Amino acid sequence: MVGEAVISSHRGVNRVIGGFVKVCEAEGVEMIGIVSSGAGAAAAATDEAFDHYCKEICEGIAKVKGRIDGVLLCLHGAMTTVTRTDPDADIVREVRRIVGKKMPIVLGLDYHGNLDGETLKHCDALFGYHYSPHTDMGETGERAARCLVRMLRGEIKPVMAIAKPGVMVPSIFSATNLHPLADIVAESLELPKRFPGLIDVTVFAGFSYADVPNCGFSVVAVTDGDRALADRIVNGLSDTIHGLRHQLYKDNLVLGMKEGVALALRKSNSASKPIVLLEHADRLNDSTHLLHELFRQNAPKAFVPYLWDPKAAEAAIKAGVGADVEIMAGGHSSDRAGGPVKLKGKVLFAGEKEFTSTGPVGRGRKVRLGPMAVIDAGGIIVSVTSNAETALDEDCFTQFGFKSEDFPIILLRSKTHFRAVYEKVAEEILIVDTPDYGPADLTTLPYKHVPKDRVFPFTDTP
Ligand SMILES: [Zn+2]
Repeated sequence: MVGEAVISSHRGVNRVIGGFVKVCEAEGVEMIGIVSSGAGAAAAATDEAFDHYCKEICEGIAKVKGRIDGVLLCLHGAMTTVTRTDPDADIVREVRRIVGKKMPIVLGLDYHGNLDGETLKHCDALFGYHYSPHTDMGETGERAARCLVRMLRGEIKPVMAIAKPGVMVPSIFSATNLHPLADIVAESLELPKRFPGLIDVTVFAGFSYADVPNCGFSVVAVTDGDRALADRIVNGLSDTIHGLRHQLYKDNLVLGMKEGVALALRKSNSASKPIVLLEHADRLNDSTHLLHELFRQNAPKAFVPYLWDPKAAEAAIKAGVGADVEIMAGGHSSDRAGGPVKLKGKVLFAGEKEFTSTGPVGRGRKVRLGPMAVIDAGGIIVSVTSNAETALDEDCFTQFGFKSEDFPIILLRSKTHFRAVYEKVAEEILIVDTPDYGPADLTTLPYKHVPKDRVFPFTDTP
């Protein structure tokens, strides 16, 4: 979306731009929306898509340059394109070139951003989510906007420092409610209370499935003109992360496919709440490894939300509600996705589906599943969608008249965001590694740009 719609569509939404809007409106700051667009974590973006949006951002800012006092940018931080390893930094550099050295540029970023000094060089301050599940996206935007407002009033002059501990973890272990990461984040949030002049600290986990030189954890501190303090803070936290690298990389928690499903079946017999099976290595919402395994092990009842397969959805819709179908679904996105699985059973729902998210991650966001169907394949209920969407909350049940507690086993694909809801819903969460492209064992991936001689788990320097 472009222009005024960027502002109106984010008002009241728990997203970074929603936070910008909240603070700016409260402070009487006039905003000019430029452009907003996004996509989930999948393959690298095309260079054409990058050029298109970078141009739109830059031309939009250039047009209003004489009328504005500062720029708020919401970027992810871990985007890659086919040829660019740090396109987010490229955007910030371009915006800086357009607005000149003096105009403040403040960034709101995702906690999974892969960062280094290059991004810091071209902006005045940057702020990332503190938590994953990302329940504080709106607050991150508020922190960034508040900083810009204070700068414009002449109250603060931010300086920043960044440190990289040389540690990568799979996304699954970047959840900030897992220890010791939870303690590291909690400590980082205490620091601004203890050090006057320290405006903000963000611990970024990085995104390990982007093959880039700056992949992995980083710590960024923003202070009011005190570079030495910023350095001290980021170096201290970075040392802590490096020291805890083995505890952060929890390979002992990951199960194989056969044992994972067998364990889920065994545990679900005596559990009072559902067992969640987590097919976390799936990056495109269509991997079928655990669904195959559930059928192989004759699971009597399970819920499998949002398997991405437009053709299968279309076939089920054509058959209609109540029809008995035999449809091959999922497993198309790559040679590692598991191959299509046969869904033989009754169509329970068929049609277009769109609703407003009620979960804590992105509450208020429109969820567009597109044409889709729900199929009861012998007790295993699978919803097949045309748009790739990850089930993060209980909307995947309630929107179709189901209740999560009625299912002994729930198969999810989220990495960390589901935890905001499913840590309460589930009796236990079983993390299963599959041969897909987002494995827990990072050493199995063919990295070309990650400096493996300097980063854990590829190198282990004390
Ligand atoms: Zn993230």
